[in-house]
Amino acid sequence: MSDNHPSLNFIEQIIEEDLKNGKNNSKVHTRFPPEPNGYLHIGHAKSICLNFGLAKKYNGKCNLRFDDTNPTKEDTEYVESIKEDIQWLGFQWANIFYASDYFEQLYQWAERLIMEGLAYVDDSTQEEISKGRGVPTKPGTESPYRNRSVEENLDLFRRMRAGEFPDGSKVLRAKIDMTSPNMHMRDPIMYRILHAEHHKTGNKWCIYPMYDYAHGQSDSIEGITHSICTLEFEVHRPLYDWFCETLKIHHPQQIEFARLNLSYTIMSKRKLMQLVQEKHVMGWDDPRMPTISGLRRRGYTAASIRNFAETVGVAKRDNIIDVSLLEFCAREDLNKVARRTMAVLDPVKLVIDNYPEGQIEELDAVNNPENPDEGTRKVPFGKELWIERADFMENPPKKFFRLTVGGEVRLKYAYIIKCTHVVKDAEGNITEIHCEYYPETRSGLSESNRKVKGTIHWVSVKHAKKAEVRLFDRLFNVPDPDDCEEGQTFIDHINPNSLVVIDGFIEESLNLKNAVKHYQFERTGYFCLDKDSTEDHLVFNKTVSLKASY
Ligand code: ATP
Ligand code: MG
Repeated sequence: MSDNHPSLNFIEQIIEEDLKNGKNNSKVHTRFPPEPNGYLHIGHAKSICLNFGLAKKYNGKCNLRFDDTNPTKEDTEYVESIKEDIQWLGFQWANIFYASDYFEQLYQWAERLIMEGLAYVDDSTQEEISKGRGVPTKPGTESPYRNRSVEENLDLFRRMRAGEFPDGSKVLRAKIDMTSPNMHMRDPIMYRILHAEHHKTGNKWCIYPMYDYAHGQSDSIEGITHSICTLEFEVHRPLYDWFCETLKIHHPQQIEFARLNLSYTIMSKRKLMQLVQEKHVMGWDDPRMPTISGLRRRGYTAASIRNFAETVGVAKRDNIIDVSLLEFCAREDLNKVARRTMAVLDPVKLVIDNYPEGQIEELDAVNNPENPDEGTRKVPFGKELWIERADFMENPPKKFFRLTVGGEVRLKYAYIIKCTHVVKDAEGNITEIHCEYYPETRSGLSESNRKVKGTIHWVSVKHAKKAEVRLFDRLFNVPDPDDCEEGQTFIDHINPNSLVVIDGFIEESLNLKNAVKHYQFERTGYFCLDKDSTEDHLVFNKTVSLKASY
């Protein structure tokens, strides 16, 4: 491609060139073609943002097409989750189709190829077929069934459809070129026999088209202009083209881009399924999973995922994206939308000795400094507060701006305090931190301008509410879990400490009814309410820390 459009990615360059030349009547029609055999992951999100995004950008359309040609692995549960995930990401399909909608048309086309002497029924076993294909450097050997007559092929193929033959006993193959250096052109299989119930077509069919025979033709039927797929399909392109050309049907352009790989996770539905089935995680939507539903439950926003997909861009070579980029995108968006609240996750008691016994003040706290429209709320303040254990040190290092004996900090939205002494138990653990407050330093008062270096958050002991907080770490403890020693699998790289559950104290006013989607626990990180929450047992998931910690 020329670099006339330096700001466009290479797919946009192709599209703009086509639009300029009036190709496809200057229309753009893409599709997202998932197989409904699992939940979508962040790699699919990349493909969704690309396909739906291009349609949007060029005033075109994007179809959702379920590539449902493997009845034994597919299920309507997956169909539903895929629809939900796409809509949650903020996209809407122009049409929803299933490859199975085209089974009859595909079958008719197969008969046509047979009649033109371009397809034949092969009785060879799987093994014999792959042996016959041989290796790329040497021509393959032709099947002994390759020269069956058109009549015999047609008869056998019709009887395959009628259910006369058992699974695996015959296949239909395209008659192309057993000497091609491209193995996919060595008489690829078009149909196999599978007596299995299909989630949509039931028992209507017992022969099912292979991916290569179904995909391009489905694109063609839908009038797709640019069929975008990942790099591993580059070697399939000649076959994609061959079917469209030979059948003389609309010929979409297949364009390949590099699939998204993320560090510290895996991105294959089969392996994600294994994590679920072997119960290494709570389910497909476990917040540690790279699935869209997992990221959603973890507290990622759709905007942050779209932004991530945009930032990653479109590459022609495989690479691995650092998961910290995804986390960065989450922080960037959550900072704008998250409701601020105070929560103490590792509590120690702070007692203000000169604060009147029994007095409660309702202090104003800002809900979201990034969005004044969200207003303020009242937070109760009293003589006894919970603060984070880590916000106090007896023997602090230099530049420790939090609390220490004799030192001062501001309690967020409240007063400046000075620590006077601590109380310890028999083992020497601090059980209470004592301090005095300066009434004139209350936030918002005109005399409160006095500055101290540190500000810490707190929750009133009398008003604190307990909540379960789930802290997540990476699911795998190596950047590439698939990089295994002899005898190991990716399962051996699971991080045993990827989930830590603690009890924390949150603001009393926070409950199931008034909860919003995203919170920033001030100074701690971004959190969201988990679906396991009940009226009297709130559960929070940590989405991401406030700053990168790795
Ligand atoms: P998996 O190996 O995880 O099952 P798949 O490619 O078999 O993935 P499909 O349901 O066939 O899953 O994929 C639907 C679409 O999403 C395809 O166009 C595919 O190319 C694209 N896709 C899948 N994984 C990625 C990825 N990691 N990055 C970008 N696109 C992807
Ligand atoms: Mg696939």
